[in-house]
Amino acid sequence: AAASGGGLVAYADSAAESAPEPSQGAPKKKLLVLGTGWAGTSFLKNLDCSQYEVKVISPRNYFAFTPLLPSVTCGTVEPRSIIEPVRRMFEKKNKDVTFCEAECFKIDANKKTVHCRSAVGTNLDGNGDFMLDYDYLVVALGATVSTFNTPGVLEHCCFLKEVEDAQKIRRCVIDCFEKASLPNISAEEKRKILHFVVIGGGPTGVEFAAEMHDFLVEDLVKLYPAIQDFVKITIIQSGEHILNMFDERIAAFAEQKFQRDGIEVCTGFRVIKVSDDSITMKSKSAGKEVSVPYGMAVWSAGIGTRPVIMDFMQQIGQTNRRALATNEWLRVRECEGVYAIGDCATVSQRKIMDDISMVFKMADKDNSGTLTLKEINDVLEDICIRYPQVELYMKSMHMLDIADLIKGAIGDSHKESMVVDIEEFKKALSHVDSQVKNAPATAQVAAQQGQYLAECFNKMEKCKEDPEGPLRMTGGSGRHFFRPFRYKHFGQFAPLGGEQAAAELPGDWVSMGHSTQWLWYSVYASKQVSWRTRVLVVSDWTRRFIFGRDSSR
Ligand code: FAD
Ligand code: MG
Ligand code: MG
Ligand code: MG
Ligand code: MG
Repeated sequence: AAASGGGLVAYADSAAESAPEPSQGAPKKKLLVLGTGWAGTSFLKNLDCSQYEVKVISPRNYFAFTPLLPSVTCGTVEPRSIIEPVRRMFEKKNKDVTFCEAECFKIDANKKTVHCRSAVGTNLDGNGDFMLDYDYLVVALGATVSTFNTPGVLEHCCFLKEVEDAQKIRRCVIDCFEKASLPNISAEEKRKILHFVVIGGGPTGVEFAAEMHDFLVEDLVKLYPAIQDFVKITIIQSGEHILNMFDERIAAFAEQKFQRDGIEVCTGFRVIKVSDDSITMKSKSAGKEVSVPYGMAVWSAGIGTRPVIMDFMQQIGQTNRRALATNEWLRVRECEGVYAIGDCATVSQRKIMDDISMVFKMADKDNSGTLTLKEINDVLEDICIRYPQVELYMKSMHMLDIADLIKGAIGDSHKESMVVDIEEFKKALSHVDSQVKNAPATAQVAAQQGQYLAECFNKMEKCKEDPEGPLRMTGGSGRHFFRPFRYKHFGQFAPLGGEQAAAELPGDWVSMGHSTQWLWYSVYASKQVSWRTRVLVVSDWTRRFIFGRDSSR
């Protein structure tokens, strides 16, 4: 029952005792990790690799620092500065970790094997296919772009997901400028070639538009003075505002800044077709269609599911989903030994209302059929760990303690002598599940999940009796369980160009302007995965300040 997530969890302090001796002679368990992005590398960095036989599969033998990809599109930062070779990252662990540069194209959960394909032919028959088996599988394959099947997008738009994409955009931008500088190009034609369209007003699209604008006003006007007046940048956003996942104040600030900069923001328009020279969009309110000519378009409107994940979800009966569903311990539901982290997965949080009778029974230690405030308080911490939505709900309603929540349901009464029956208990908690939220598809979430899962794997031996906790509320001493994963949000930045940025920090704190850009520089420098990339990125920034960006292809 605990495995299906039905139970409340008790937990042990993770700081307790050191890891046990690996059992003598027993072969190490095979641990296979798919992907070397944010989730995969964070997992490997925190894993005690000596406990397992670790194999890592990824078609790219490097980790890419994706938050700086928009800066690569205009040459603010060089592509080499934001990638770190995987083998170098785990240099010290290389004797315990094997890396294979290959793509996984099928996961077979029944046979506990994974099918991979290397770009280099290794077999006698000339293909590079091979198969690996596992005891534990960590799926960290990330996501792809989704075009929502909009015709022409795949053929005509650039994307911004991988390092190669950013390099391609950089070449396209320069191509457009060179093309527009050729003789015999009419003014109308120039205007078309130099119309840069960004589809999608999320953080990536907005940051790219801001980068483009800076590149234009800081560098290109000097290098291409004859055509500068023909350049235009447009953002097309289907929602009412750009950056709609941020605080309204940030969205408003960004829209005003873009207006001053001359970046056109078309909100409420959905792109319905892209051809080689025009983009057709439809107004959501009026329903009328407009076509605009363009020179280059970047699609950053949606994230999609990788085919191998899609196929795996079919196999295990998770259909009609965008990402693999895991339980709160990041284990893929109904799938022995398989875990999923990062953008390819979502945690489905158990609802407290589904377990309410059990929760009540466990809290009711004296079997009186009613709960006193003390009885509730005794199990509150466990409830909040197992069902984080309870705490979130109390916070959102500005409630100081559980007594407030109960009072709201049963009407006023004296705090200390309060007694509730099951119906009242249900009523008190009935709105709590509205606070269940999916963590966003960000590097921050992926990295935290990787770290969390590594800590679980490090304690696996110790917790093997019952890793997800027993069906009881208070942990007996000496028992070891994993706490369910919980995402901690440290805030989010939106660089807006012109040395200005906006940031949303924990506790409803919003900061915008030039000083925020400096905060951005320091945070992103400190987040680099190695001293090597840190030095490269900072020197790229410095070079840009002094000499401007490189505008060669
Ligand atoms: P990824 O980092 O995408 O890693 C997936 C890994 O799997 C890669 O190593 C890939 O090579 C490998 N792989 C792919 N297919 C296969 C296969 N078939 N077999 C084996 N391996 C495979 N998040 C933030 O928090 N802050 C930001 O500022 C931010 N900016 C971003 C800017 C851009 C332009 C983009 C694209 C994303 C940004 N993100 C940001 C989001 C962040 O990059 C993702 O949430 C994060 O990368 C997810 O980590 P992941 O490990 O799940 O996937
Ligand atoms: Mg990964
Ligand atoms: Mg990555
Ligand atoms: Mg996720
Ligand atoms: Mg009682």
